[in-house]
Amino acid sequence: MQIDKNALVSLARCKRYHTDTVREALLNLLAPWGGIGFLVKPGQNVLLKPNLLAAARPEEAVTTHPVLISILAKLVQKAGGRVLIGDSPGSDDAKTVYKKTGMLAAAEETGSELIMFDRIYKKDYDRNRGKRGFELTEALNQVDVIINVAKLKTHPLTGLTAAVKNTYGCIAGKKKGRMHYEHPLPDDFSRVLLDVYLAVKPAFSIIDAVIALEGIGPRKGKPRNTGLLMASSNAIALDSVAAEITGFKPNQVTTLNAARERSLFGTNLSELQIVGLTLEESRVSNFDQGTSSAGKIGSLVARYPRAWFRGLRESRRPYPLIDEKICNSCGVCADNCPAQIININEGIPDIDQDCCIRCYCCVEFCPQGAVELA
Ligand code: SF4
Ligand code: SF4
Repeated sequence: MQIDKNALVSLARCKRYHTDTVREALLNLLAPWGGIGFLVKPGQNVLLKPNLLAAARPEEAVTTHPVLISILAKLVQKAGGRVLIGDSPGSDDAKTVYKKTGMLAAAEETGSELIMFDRIYKKDYDRNRGKRGFELTEALNQVDVIINVAKLKTHPLTGLTAAVKNTYGCIAGKKKGRMHYEHPLPDDFSRVLLDVYLAVKPAFSIIDAVIALEGIGPRKGKPRNTGLLMASSNAIALDSVAAEITGFKPNQVTTLNAARERSLFGTNLSELQIVGLTLEESRVSNFDQGTSSAGKIGSLVARYPRAWFRGLRESRRPYPLIDEKICNSCGVCADNCPAQIININEGIPDIDQDCCIRCYCCVEFCPQGAVELA
């Protein structure tokens, strides 16, 4: 088969996070490219960039599973690469996140280096329509190859968070919140996410959907065993396939809308080469898409020009509400609200809804899952 690198999306069945099962699935996943050697040359520094949103246990399905990272690290090492593992968690301290998510153990087991994304380098990304300045982690300058290892989850702002959005973790620390504040609307924020992906330029992307997160992701949702690993060198194509498999309509994933708007290759499924499993074999029935900003009235958005529906869609976007029975008054939501509109009054967070930009950082970061959407 003649391979078009930009169009190839590989799908593999992987029913559980058992070492042998994941290894076999990963080898199947990489087979269309001829194995990991197409990506890694001896002596190269290779960054594995998982989704480490928060200090969550692997079984919560909030973060990329450590078994996948371990097996991938061993494959890279076998090809002669030196493995670095890193991400910039949204709110929690990175060391705590690395420990709780199993990344520390994965690094120790494989002799990989865990790195911090705490130093910044400024990069101007030229997207032909004006430059966008990013404060990316300096760690990107230390590596020759970036492998983006995302987790498949729903997201109230973007519909899905998968390969494109995972690169947002390369923005250093608290700067991520500021970008939410500067670009509060889902469409505009998704253009930023796309620019980050294009600036970071991972050589390869993998989506961990062995156990995905459905419902109110990306932190509070329900783990769902979809039994899939997916890969492509084109994260836009990969996300298009992930969206199709989980039943999202074409316009419901806002990062894909941003790619379509710029005529980037990968949003048209009929132009992709999907191998390993067919779309039909991979489809996840009744995937709970949650209350996504696009998904809630997705059929309208899909049928009509998006600009016409901006007002309607904005009015329908849900607001965050605190479940006082679950909240333990930790203050993480207040510390990480980009708009700084959460005050803790007598132990209960009070959200100034008039000023809320509905970025849903509070939903993402609440360790108790106490922030509802209504
Ligand atoms: S809502 Fe969540 S993050 Fe905010 S104070 Fe309560 S438990 Fe902490
Ligand atoms: S209250 Fe929540 S959704 Fe509203 S601006 Fe703050 S973090 Fe974002």
